[in-house]
Amino acid sequence: MIVFPVENHRNREDGSLVYPVYSRRSGGLSIGINLFPDKKVCPFDCPYCEIFPFTTTAKFVVDTLKGELTDVVNNAQRRAVPIRDICFSGNGEPTLSPHFEKALEAARDIQKKAAPEAKLVAITCGAGLLRDEIFSCLQNATASYGLDVWLKLDAGGEAWYRAINRSAIPFDKLIAKIKEFVRRSPATLQTMLCSIGGTLPSDAEEAAWNHLALELAETGNVRQFQLYGKARPSAEDPFAEAAPVSYLEKRAKTLQETLAHGGVEAPVSIYL
Ligand code: SF4
Repeated sequence: MIVFPVENHRNREDGSLVYPVYSRRSGGLSIGINLFPDKKVCPFDCPYCEIFPFTTTAKFVVDTLKGELTDVVNNAQRRAVPIRDICFSGNGEPTLSPHFEKALEAARDIQKKAAPEAKLVAITCGAGLLRDEIFSCLQNATASYGLDVWLKLDAGGEAWYRAINRSAIPFDKLIAKIKEFVRRSPATLQTMLCSIGGTLPSDAEEAAWNHLALELAETGNVRQFQLYGKARPSAEDPFAEAAPVSYLEKRAKTLQETLAHGGVEAPVSIYL
């Protein structure tokens, strides 16, 4: 039995497949889907990651997901709580789960029948785009029923990518795939702005990121730029630390100026 509502993300480390949260990103109730109930699985190792080390013996089973998601959706409907989105996120990179496509299909069925007002969202670091079948799956879902893909774009240059995402995936290879995806499909771009080891992104990194953001926005497919401050504890605190609000505001301003200079429009939001 899932207790509703849940006001934080902690129960995604106790084996739950579905975790309703009040999300600052969604501005309301977001129902998270966790494909990794037993341990974190992610090709990134962001120092600001909010998932604390854990293991359970829980297993992901699509039928269990269907049951839990139906319960949570029905519970929200009974309480007349609007559901903003049903969101693939959880303990790692959802697109790398062998169950991702089946789970997406199941969530789509439930959303269509029981919560048509909710958006279906997949949050991804982009690693899945390197697999042709996942690239196509996300592209098709976006085109056929408006899946909203929220792509991580923390760095504009390799040095900051190494510091903030610490992934073995080559930066150029990942960015090339992100560009290819955004050329073909709409996406929301998410960027964490925080200090790592006491250091904020350099001016050169900021310029490179703005340049990359402009290039992506020029496709006309960027739904929104979401700039995040670090708001929750992470296992490595205080290695990653929240940046001052003025820094996020400055980054939003220089992004808007870069977009305007390039003659491109795209919404920019800050989440503190
Ligand atoms: S991409 Fe997300 S899940 Fe993976 S390490 Fe970074 S913050 Fe954590």
